[in-house]
Amino acid sequence: MRYPLTADLPFNRAAVQSGFVAILPGSPQSAGLDGDGFWLILQGNSMLVTEQLQMPFGPMPEFLSERCEPSTIGLWQGKPLWIAAISRSIEIPPSFSAEPFNASGDRLDDATLTLGGMAMQIIHWQKKSRFCSSCGGALTPMPGNFGMLCPVCNYEHFPSIHPCAIVLVRRGDQFLLARKKEWFPGRYGLVAGFLDMGESLEECAAREVLEETGIVIKNVQYVGSQCWPFPSQLMAGFIADYESGEIVVDESELEDARWFNRDEPLIGLPPHRSIARWILDRYMLGSD
Ligand SMILES: [Zn+2]
Repeated sequence: MRYPLTADLPFNRAAVQSGFVAILPGSPQSAGLDGDGFWLILQGNSMLVTEQLQMPFGPMPEFLSERCEPSTIGLWQGKPLWIAAISRSIEIPPSFSAEPFNASGDRLDDATLTLGGMAMQIIHWQKKSRFCSSCGGALTPMPGNFGMLCPVCNYEHFPSIHPCAIVLVRRGDQFLLARKKEWFPGRYGLVAGFLDMGESLEECAAREVLEETGIVIKNVQYVGSQCWPFPSQLMAGFIADYESGEIVVDESELEDARWFNRDEPLIGLPPHRSIARWILDRYMLGSD
């Protein structure tokens, strides 16, 4: 198994533990940060990297000047880590390439992917928290955390992270996988969905499986979680047992769902860097 623990999966903080020191915006440490550093630049759904697929290091790249306001989220290998988002219309110099930023590619290393995920979540939050949702006032950053304060009504806004449950269902030596229409041919994954109000994560897993496949499950057991910064989810992973029902696919959500045999050769599995694959690998190894 490539990632023995969920703590080892990219996007979870442990993947950068050896070189990353978080510095919160407006904290005393952030005021002193200046000069050469690593540049984590997002453009749409891509990250700009050097020919060696690394974050550029040095002063602010010239093409960034006056087009964005970089901010720092901490230190990477002892140097400031600057983050910035640029518009898709900005032309990138030939020494940079725009690398698709997702869990499927395997060109970016785990640390770069994880730092990029943090940047993506922070930039998404900054974009979505300019105005107060209670009164419409312009928000101002709260020093020392990622919160935003409304000076008009004093409401404090904090980053919203959306929990999702993702679940592998077992039935004897079989397990349940599903596929969405938009996935490439042959790709299957685990049933997953967003938490509803008034619901536990275990209840969410059971509801999603019932709604999308018509299957009733039991013994819903938590196995691990992964930050999923596309743009701001937390995936909570579960393993469960089949209780009753026949597969009836919800065609508004899925194209197909079926039982696979444990010894069946599988193609089109979820990417290695996802908790979906981690749960499947763990099940295949007989850990669950
Ligand atoms: Zn307000």
